[in-house]
Amino acid sequence: MTVTAWQSKPMKQSVVYSNQLAVEDSLKKLESLPPLVTPHEIMKLRAELKEVALGNKFLLQGGDCAELFDYCSAEPIDGKIKVLLQMSLVLVWGARIPVVRIARMAGQFAKPRSSLTEVVNGKEIQSFRGDNINGYLPHEREPDPGRLVSSYFHSAATLNYLRAQLSSGFADLHHPFSWTLSHVQSDHIRLEYQLIVNSITEALSFMHTIGADTSPSINTADFYTSHEGLLLEYEQSLTRLLPDPTDSIPKYFNTSAHFLWIGDRTRQLDGAHVEYFRGIQNPIGIKIGPTISGAELVQLLDTINPTKAIGKVTLITRYGASLVTQKLSEHIEAVQASGHIPVWQCDPMHGNTFTSPPPYSLKTRRFADIISELRDCLRIHKDHGSRLCGMHLELTGENVTECVGGSERLEENELNRKYETYCDPRLNMNQALDAAFLVAAYYRR
Ligand code: PEP
Ligand code: MN
Repeated sequence: MTVTAWQSKPMKQSVVYSNQLAVEDSLKKLESLPPLVTPHEIMKLRAELKEVALGNKFLLQGGDCAELFDYCSAEPIDGKIKVLLQMSLVLVWGARIPVVRIARMAGQFAKPRSSLTEVVNGKEIQSFRGDNINGYLPHEREPDPGRLVSSYFHSAATLNYLRAQLSSGFADLHHPFSWTLSHVQSDHIRLEYQLIVNSITEALSFMHTIGADTSPSINTADFYTSHEGLLLEYEQSLTRLLPDPTDSIPKYFNTSAHFLWIGDRTRQLDGAHVEYFRGIQNPIGIKIGPTISGAELVQLLDTINPTKAIGKVTLITRYGASLVTQKLSEHIEAVQASGHIPVWQCDPMHGNTFTSPPPYSLKTRRFADIISELRDCLRIHKDHGSRLCGMHLELTGENVTECVGGSERLEENELNRKYETYCDPRLNMNQALDAAFLVAAYYRR
């Protein structure tokens, strides 16, 4: 196995640059830059995901659909850390289960597109493919090799700020009130959240009195980073042969993020993405939708994880509310019969996208569909003696109006009030907390 073998395989979603020499220069520069994350951190996450797969922890993953270079700024980063921390607090407290947090952040730039062109103001132009390929403005749509290097530096700055905030007490459980609920409209959610915070404050005060508040997990929280491993030239340039801390043997690690996933559009068995992914040590995700059969899914697992390492693979299921019942059982049964033990994670977003009617015609999702797919996943796993052990959401800490419904009862004609996504519609803070309360209540039963 080599780190370049993917280059001889068919590749979906490949990018054609007009200046190949500039691409080579960018990749050479990237190869010389230091890792953003280390094998030690990567293997720590792998060990945590093994616990998730075995049902001892819960995986919460979330962030923007398309991260922009412009989001590399204190406020949007704080907003996302905050909403993920609040959701994990709800899950830890409600479900009494430790939570592993992975942000879709510090590198979630490349986007697969169903159509490579679109018509803007009567003119056909290339689609926006993410900030590391081209820009959103119509005149920036030509793929620009300089964006590969920019991508690294924006990831580095985001990750640096994330690490700095965490080591400065941002996630300290002694101050959960400072993760304000200013963007939460629903009084009911506000109240439920306040009750949790009050209970935690009381518990901590008791532990302090008896001298039992010495665990470092009270003062901070671990956060891991992730993105879709779509642009393989970029991923390869940050893939390094480094000693595996668990056995000191040099192996390939993708040092651009702790966790990478293969999208539903690029998971072909004989394709370039699967070839690349089977060569790295990082824990990885595979998005699976309604078009994959149980047999093909098992072949995919055998190819990517031939030793059947527990928790190495996270299966991110995204069927849509109307298809989950039909497809998930088949997939669980096939995987159970194969002996693989993956992390089963529900992405209730990507199978539930539709376009609202004119005049606005905005891409949206119904909160009710999202919750319905989540509920069905929880139930179907339970019926099969399996366990849904994670959720994967597109969300933001802002008060956006991109998904309809939820406890704010947002209507389709209100979407344009604060519709800010550059790709798929995200849950706002209110809707994200709604989802966390639902899962916490399910596990408390
Ligand atoms: C995504 O996660 O933004 C995405 C494109 O997902 P999928 O591959 O499931 O369509
Ligand atoms: Mn998306």
